[in-house]
Amino acid sequence: MSQITHPELFEELGASADQTADLFAEVVFDRPLDHAYSYAVPQRLRDDIAVGKRVQVPFGKGDRTTVGYCVHLGTTAPGRAVKELVRVLDDEPLLSPNLMRLTRWMADYYLCGWGQILNAVVPAGAKDQSGTRATVFLDAIPEADLPQPPPRLTPRQSAALDALRQQGKPVELRRLAKLAKCGTRPIEGLVEKGVARRLVRRIESFDPAAGHALPEPAEAARVELNADQQRAWAVLEPALRQGGFQAFLLYGVTGSGKTELYLRAIEEVVRQGKEALVLVPEISLTPQTIQCFRGRCGEVAVLHSHLGNAERGTHWRRIAGGQVQVVVGARSAVFAPSRRLGLIVIDEEHESTFKQEATPRYHARDVAVMRARLEGIPIILGSATPSLETWHNAERGQYTRLTLPSRVLDRPLPQVGLIDLRHDRPHNGPFRALSPGLESAMRHALGGGGQVILLLNRRGFSTHIHCPGCGHVASCKFCDLALTFHRERDVMLCHHCGYEQGPPKLCPKCSQVPVRYQGLGTEKLEAEIQERFQGFTVRRMDSDTMRRPGSHARLLAQFRRGEVHILLGTQMIAKGLDFPNVTLVGVVNADMGLHLPDFRAAERTFQLLAQVSGRAGRGPRGGRVLVQTYNPEHPSIALAATHDYLRFVAIETAHRKAHKYPPYQRMARLIVRSRAQQEAGDFANRLAIGFRTALERLKGPDGAPLEVRVLGPAEAPVFRLKGYYRFHFQLQSPSPATLHQLLRAVLPGARTPSHVELTVDVDPLDML
Ligand code: ADP
Ligand code: ZN
Repeated sequence: MSQITHPELFEELGASADQTADLFAEVVFDRPLDHAYSYAVPQRLRDDIAVGKRVQVPFGKGDRTTVGYCVHLGTTAPGRAVKELVRVLDDEPLLSPNLMRLTRWMADYYLCGWGQILNAVVPAGAKDQSGTRATVFLDAIPEADLPQPPPRLTPRQSAALDALRQQGKPVELRRLAKLAKCGTRPIEGLVEKGVARRLVRRIESFDPAAGHALPEPAEAARVELNADQQRAWAVLEPALRQGGFQAFLLYGVTGSGKTELYLRAIEEVVRQGKEALVLVPEISLTPQTIQCFRGRCGEVAVLHSHLGNAERGTHWRRIAGGQVQVVVGARSAVFAPSRRLGLIVIDEEHESTFKQEATPRYHARDVAVMRARLEGIPIILGSATPSLETWHNAERGQYTRLTLPSRVLDRPLPQVGLIDLRHDRPHNGPFRALSPGLESAMRHALGGGGQVILLLNRRGFSTHIHCPGCGHVASCKFCDLALTFHRERDVMLCHHCGYEQGPPKLCPKCSQVPVRYQGLGTEKLEAEIQERFQGFTVRRMDSDTMRRPGSHARLLAQFRRGEVHILLGTQMIAKGLDFPNVTLVGVVNADMGLHLPDFRAAERTFQLLAQVSGRAGRGPRGGRVLVQTYNPEHPSIALAATHDYLRFVAIETAHRKAHKYPPYQRMARLIVRSRAQQEAGDFANRLAIGFRTALERLKGPDGAPLEVRVLGPAEAPVFRLKGYYRFHFQLQSPSPATLHQLLRAVLPGARTPSHVELTVDVDPLDML
C-alpha cells in the first residue's frame, strides 16, 4: 500500500472566510460533550477533504490552529460567516463510514465528545504513519503528452526511460537505477527533460518480522463436531451464509468446544472473502487459539498493548487494506479498521477487562454488538458464565442462545470440594495458607504425576500491616486503602496508585512496638509452598512476575512441558488455560471479592470460581477442585461448586430485580473529585439539586414524568483515591433513553469549578 503525499499543501494560508464557498465541512475536536463546527472548504482543498480525515482549522480564542476530524461534508451554507479549513492532514480517511457511525453512536451513548472518541480510537501509529517512509518514485510521462519536439536523451537516459516504460507503473528511484543498470544521474535527467516526473509516496518501512513474533501456525486436526456442537452449528451456519445482523450467545461450559465453533464460523466468513474480528479478554493467554487461527483461517493480526507505534500502524494499514483475514485483540481491537467485516466473536464476554475505565468509558462488548448491527453481520458472544446483562438479553430474545451443556468427549466437569476454613484450619502453630485437606490433596495429585494450579487473587506478601500496640494500620498517603508488603522488593505498595514506602521497623505512630505483617498474598503463598513442597518446582504468575512481554508465554510453555509442578497466581491463571495434566486446582481463599460494596460482587465471585474450576480435569486423567472458604453456604460458592450457573442466575436475578439493579435497570454513575474536599462536596450538592429540579420539570416523550432514581451524592466507597476526594451519584432508570434525557438536560449546564472534575460512567462496572 502506498499513498501519494501533496507537499504543495504544506504552506499555511490565511483563514479568511471565502464568501463564495459552497462546500462545508463539519469538524469535531478532542473535547468533552461538544458539538461539531462548520468550516468552509476552499477550492484548493476540494479534492483532498473527506469524511474521516483530520484537518487543521482556526479555533477558539485567537483562532489558534487546531486539529479536528471532518465528520460531515455538505453544500448547505451554515447561515453565518464561517472560517476556512487550513489544511487536510491525512491522505486517506482514517475511519470507514461504518466506524464513523459507530463512534458517533458512542459519543451519544457514553456522553462524551465525538472528537474525544475519534482521537482515542485511532492509534498514534495510524495518525502519524509510523512504520512508513516517504520514498521517491518515477513515473513516465505518456508519449502523447511529451513536449514537442521530443527532447534528446543520452543513451543512458534512453535506457532508463525504456526500463521505466516497461514497468508500466511508477517505479521507486533506486529500483529503477538497478533495472536500468545506471546511477541516479541519468534518471534525474529524465525529470529535467520533462519525460518523467517525480512522485513522493509513502511505503511500508516496518518489517513485520522485526515485530512481535506470532505463535507458529498449528495444523490443528479438524475434529468432528459432537451432537451439541452440531446443533449450535446448524443455527450458526445459515446465519453466517446469509449475513445480516444477528447476535448469538454461545453459552457453553468450560471445555465444551466453543473455540472449535468460533474457528468454523471464521473459516466460513473467510471463505466468503470477508474478515473476522475476535476479541479476547487478555491476549497473552491465547497463544493456542492464535496458533489454530493461523493454521486454519489465513492471515492473522494480533493487536496487544506491547506493540510500538510503527508496528501498530503497520497492522492498522494492513487491516484497512484487506490483507488480514482475522484480527485478534483485546478491548480496543473492536475498532480495527477492517472494511469487509463478516463476523465478530467475543470470547469470555463476561470479563470486566472489556470495559475501559478511562474516558471514553466504553464497554467493548456493547460497542461490538453495535458495530455488528451497523455492519449488518453476525456476532457471537461466548462464555461459560455469561454476564447477567447478556443473559438478560438472551432471555428477552435480543440474542439467540446456543447451549453446549457438557464437555467434549464425555469428560465430566471436575468434582468441586469445599473446605470450610472455620473448621479445617489448624488452630495452633503458625499461620498457614493451606489447610491440611488442600495440602494432602496436593501431595496426592503431585504423587500421581499430575500438576497443580492454585488461585489466590491478591499479590504481594502481607496485605495488612498494623501495630499491635496502638492499632495503627499502614495505609496509602493518597488513598483510603491499606498498603501491601512486597517482600521481594522490600516495600509497602498501594495497589491503586503505586505509592510506595519502605517497611517500618517500629510503628510509625506510637514508635513503641514493631509492626505486624498479616494477611496473605501470592508471595507469601509461594514461600509457604516452597518450604512445604521441597523437590517440586513452583512458579508464581501475577502482575509482579509477569511484567516483561512474553513472560506469560514462557511460563506457560514451561508448565505445559511439565517443568513446573505447581503454578500459583492471581486471576490471570483462572482464564482460558488448557492443560490436560492439571489434576488439581486449589482456590486458597474464595471469599476475597465477596464482601466488596459492589452489587456485582456475587456474580464476579461465581464467575471466577467457575473459570478456575474449568482449568481442572481437561485431559483424560480427570481432575478435581478444592475451594477454601469461610462462606461455604453462600450461593456464589455453593453453586459454583455444583456447576449450577442456572440456579445462580435465578437467585442473583431475583436479587437484582428487587434492588432495581442492572440488568433490570440501567445505571449511570457520576463521580465528582477534587483535591479539595469542600469544593468536591459543594459541587456534588449543587449537581444533586440540578438533577432533582430537572426531574421535576422534565417530561418524557409520552408526557409522563421521567422515571429516574437519583441516589446521592454520597462519599464513594473509597473516598480518597490518588489524593482526590470523591463523591458519587448513581442514576437508575428502566430505560436508557430516559437516563440520557436527564443527563443531557443537566450536564451541559453543569459548570464544573476549575479544581473539580466530573466523570460520567454509563453502565458502570467499577462501583468503588
Ligand atoms: P472451550 O472453548 O469451550 O473451553 P475448547 O474449544 O477449547 O473449549 O475445547 C476443549 C478441547 O476439546 C480442545 O482441545 C478442543 O480441541 C477439543 N474439542 C473441541 N471440540 C471437540 C470435538 N467435537 N471432539 C473432540 N475434541 C474436541
Ligand atoms: Zn494509593
